[in-house]
Amino acid sequence: MFKKILVANRGEIALRIQRACREMGVKAVMVYSEADRDAKYVKLADEAVCIGPASSTHSYLNMPAIISAAEVTDAEAIHPGYGFLSENANFAERVENSGFVFIGPTAASIRLMGDKVSAKQAMVKAGVPTVPGSEGALDDDPATIKRTAKAVGYPVIIKASGGGGGRGMRVVHTEAALLHAVQTTKAEAGTAFGNPEVYLEKYLQNPRHVEVQILADTYKNVVYLGERDCSMQRRHQKVIEEAPAPGIPRRLIEKIGERCVAACKKIGYRGAGTFEFLFEDGEFYFIEMNTRLQVEHTVTELVTGIDIVRAQIEVAAGQKLAFTQKQITVKGHAFECRINAEDPFKFTPSPGRITGWHTAGGPGVRVDSHAYHNYTVPSNYDSMIGKLIVHGDTRDQALARMRSALSEMVVEGIKTNIPLHRELTADAKFMAGGTNIHYLETWLEQHPR
Ligand code: ADP
Repeated sequence: MFKKILVANRGEIALRIQRACREMGVKAVMVYSEADRDAKYVKLADEAVCIGPASSTHSYLNMPAIISAAEVTDAEAIHPGYGFLSENANFAERVENSGFVFIGPTAASIRLMGDKVSAKQAMVKAGVPTVPGSEGALDDDPATIKRTAKAVGYPVIIKASGGGGGRGMRVVHTEAALLHAVQTTKAEAGTAFGNPEVYLEKYLQNPRHVEVQILADTYKNVVYLGERDCSMQRRHQKVIEEAPAPGIPRRLIEKIGERCVAACKKIGYRGAGTFEFLFEDGEFYFIEMNTRLQVEHTVTELVTGIDIVRAQIEVAAGQKLAFTQKQITVKGHAFECRINAEDPFKFTPSPGRITGWHTAGGPGVRVDSHAYHNYTVPSNYDSMIGKLIVHGDTRDQALARMRSALSEMVVEGIKTNIPLHRELTADAKFMAGGTNIHYLETWLEQHPR
């Protein structure tokens, strides 16, 4: 096992990784920007290194500064968390070339999955079902584009190969709008992602977002840890996640889980990863793979009892997975509410000093947050300040616990989306389970403030 790990991230996930390290007897080096200097997890760290000013370009995205921090502190491995450099193949490569272990997959796997066209092609080869669409990137020839769209059937969606974070996508309903949409998406993708390549797929009208968590070691042992339903989204950003996905027969989950495992073996994947699918009319359609730890890994941890961050660190240190597929069971139900510093209904960010902070507790309640009384939420980063996660024997019990936990949460001085979560977790359709990816946006339109 490593003696020392550097955590190349901030906020709740930096604290989450620090906690895993502490439990494992591994020292954790935290890096921080000037805006995070006073954060409690930085003060509590075994060692902490300032890597630059508030702007993430010059700190959390600053590869040389992070690698130097690992050098001066004699860390052996780097955990990238999520966001920032976690899916940057060049970073993974530079980390390994500098003699450190990257806690994640190989640069080659990140590169393969980071390009959506190559990822989709790899999935087709590995027998994972994908959304019907163009074979690879779209051709430049207008007649070919039209023929492809017609064969797939309208509506279609034009997506950038290099896209991410819900950007670089355009839905097209008629042939008349097709060529213009392709041109515009290409131009935007070239500017935003440095890669104008786009592809086309069928636009599914009422899908749910269901994803499969996998873990792989370097000895070709691969397991899946069940699924999560992350359909409660606004602007393609997840708001509430749960595990398992309500109402999907176990045999379908097992079938898709086994496909994901087979795909990982085929591409020689190592570490934690997530296969994201759209689920409609009983069928799964692969959309992308995330080659990193995800925000919502917690709900899987609560239903399987497996510490995913610990497992990531263990396999990166060359250990075998500590469990087999047969030993993994999904017990009960879990929910996660992402707590954001923002107006609950207008969604404008609300950074600033937290003048009152009381979190929830009791059976089955977990709070992953770096925030505390008098903590100042910087305006430079993502607005998520924590996650409220609950577990129950049944979905109903878990939801009741979530409502109770939300009623206990007090955050003063800044606005948060807790009032929105209180309403959503008491919404009859959400309580019944199985709402689709458009549910929240429609709900917001129907509940104007
Ligand atoms: P990103 O990497 O930007 O998150 P994804 O490919 O994961 O992009 O897609 C993000 C979201 O866009 C999905 O969760 C879904 O809401 C929507 N989406 C993507 N592809 C399709 C499709 N073929 N049909 C319907 N919705 C889609």
